Amino acid sequence: MEKPRLIREDGLRHDGRRPNELRPIKISVGVLNKASGSALVEYGATKILAAVHGPREIPLRHLLLPDRAIIRCRYHMLTFSTHERKSPAPSRREIELSKVIRESLEPVVMTEMFPRTAIDIFIEVINADGGTRTASVTAASLALADAGIPMRDIVVGVAVGKVNNVLVLDIDEVEDMFGEADMPVAVAPSLGMITLLQLNGVLTRDEFVEALKLALEGANQIYRLAREALRNSYLKVRVEE
Ligand code: ADP
Repeated sequence: MEKPRLIREDGLRHDGRRPNELRPIKISVGVLNKASGSALVEYGATKILAAVHGPREIPLRHLLLPDRAIIRCRYHMLTFSTHERKSPAPSRREIELSKVIRESLEPVVMTEMFPRTAIDIFIEVINADGGTRTASVTAASLALADAGIPMRDIVVGVAVGKVNNVLVLDIDEVEDMFGEADMPVAVAPSLGMITLLQLNGVLTRDEFVEALKLALEGANQIYRLAREALRNSYLKVRVEE
């Protein structure tokens, strides 16, 4: 792919967004009727489906803990989610992201309420256009909430990048590929807790502070949409009853 002009002469990004602007975000909660909980989350063209099973007993009892539930998480990209066919076998990257996403959710889930059970989170990347790990965190935490699992807060994710020396919110694949830095962040806004922070590339100390501020502002916007989507799913259940 040829490198596009990441910051145009008018100061806008290659897709016309302002530096501090999110992609269009769509969130639906409770989209599957067989899973305990589910959510479909879109950040622009990035599209993620998350489903939760449990808490439940599992045959592999030796894995279970006496004082709390265990959380297992699988992040997976569908073969048609990327430009080139993605092998369906789990890659190193998918194994790492499964762990990173699980760790970003664990602090908010009240696992102590469900000893000797497992909570399984399945994440499918339906279409990948940058920020799949952060959109996955949002989708997975909403699927957990939809499953009725008590949580201290919802976790939402967003990535900040540096492109052409400008800090930009919610980077897409092109900005990720050609930019200078990429910083995915996950936040539990009501708890004031950062549960994931990674940094690819180099930022100065001032840039880091600014990038984190941008990420928290973006996370707050996504949090509002996420809570609204959860409320709408409750309303839907009520209407259907
Ligand atoms: P994230 O999706 O969280 O930003 P990466 O920085 O690893 O994670 O990936 C950036 C983007 O690169 C992805 O969102 C996706 O669009 C693309 N990508 C990742 N893995 C692959 C792959 N195996 N094949 C093609 N594109 C990929």
